[in-house]
Amino acid sequence: MTLLEQFLLPFGGGEQKPSSSNSSGKQSTAVPSPDQPTSPTKKHRTVALQGHTVPWLLKRTRRKTVGMSIGRGMIQVNAPRWVPVSDIEYILKEKSKWLLARLAEWHQSEQHRLLPEQQWAHGASLQYLGKPLTLMLSPQLQQTQWDDFRRELQLALPTDADMDRIRDVVHGWLQHQARALFAKRLKTISDQSGRRYTKFSLSNARGRWGSCSEDGHIRLNWRLIHFSQEVIDYVIAHELAHTYTMDHSKSFWDEVAEILPSYEEGKSVLRRARLDTLPTF
Ligand SMILES: [Zn+2]
Repeated sequence: MTLLEQFLLPFGGGEQKPSSSNSSGKQSTAVPSPDQPTSPTKKHRTVALQGHTVPWLLKRTRRKTVGMSIGRGMIQVNAPRWVPVSDIEYILKEKSKWLLARLAEWHQSEQHRLLPEQQWAHGASLQYLGKPLTLMLSPQLQQTQWDDFRRELQLALPTDADMDRIRDVVHGWLQHQARALFAKRLKTISDQSGRRYTKFSLSNARGRWGSCSEDGHIRLNWRLIHFSQEVIDYVIAHELAHTYTMDHSKSFWDEVAEILPSYEEGKSVLRRARLDTLPTF
C-alpha cells in the first residue's frame, strides 16, 4: 500500500467522535424556517440592531428577569413567559451597542480558533465538491434531497432535531455521495486512460487521501467529497498511476500527467488546503 506522503497531514486533529455519540449534552441550534412549527421552549429569531440583522435565541425560563448572553454567534435570551417578544426586542435595541460589541468579540475569537467548529444546524454551511452547501431542516420531506441549483441539502428532519442527529444524517449523505461519485469518476478516468484497477472502496484513513495496493485495489478517502472535481480527479489519477509503479519517481509523475494532463491544478489545491477547516464527524 502506498501513501500520498505529501498529504500526511492531520485531519483537523482530535479523535473522531463515534457517529452515534449523543453524549455532548449540547442543546439543538436548529433554526426553523418561519413557516414551520418550532419548539415551544426555544425560538430562533432575528432583530435589526443599528442596521445589522442579528440572530437571537429566546428561551423561556422560570427566572423573574430578562437575561442576555452571547454564544454560538448569536444573542441568547432567557426570559420569563410573561414578557412579550416585542418588549424583549425593545430591550435588545436599547442594549444594541453593548450587544454588537460582544458579538464582534465573539466572531474575532472564533476566527482565531485553531479548529473552527462545524455547526450542525438549519442554515449552517459546509464544503461540498469545492463549494459551500447550506443545510436545511425540511420536516415535510420523506428523505434527504439535494437541490443543486440552490446548493441546499434538505434534510428530512424535524426543526428541533439535535446536532448529533443532523451531523449523522449529513455524514451518511456525504459518504453515500462520495461512494457514487468517486466510483463513477474512477471508472471514467480508467476507461479514458486505459489504466486498470481491480477494486474500489472508500476509506476513512486519517491523513491519507488515497491508496493503491499491489493487486490494484484503490481506496479513496470519503472526505475528498469536500473538494472540487479537480482535486478528486488528481487523487484518482495519482492512485491509478500507482498500478504502474509504486514509487513517486519522475516516471510516476509522467504517468500521472498522461492519465490527467491538468493534474497540477488539483495537486496544488490539495497541498494548500486547510485541513483543520474540514468538519469533524
Ligand atoms: Zn502516491
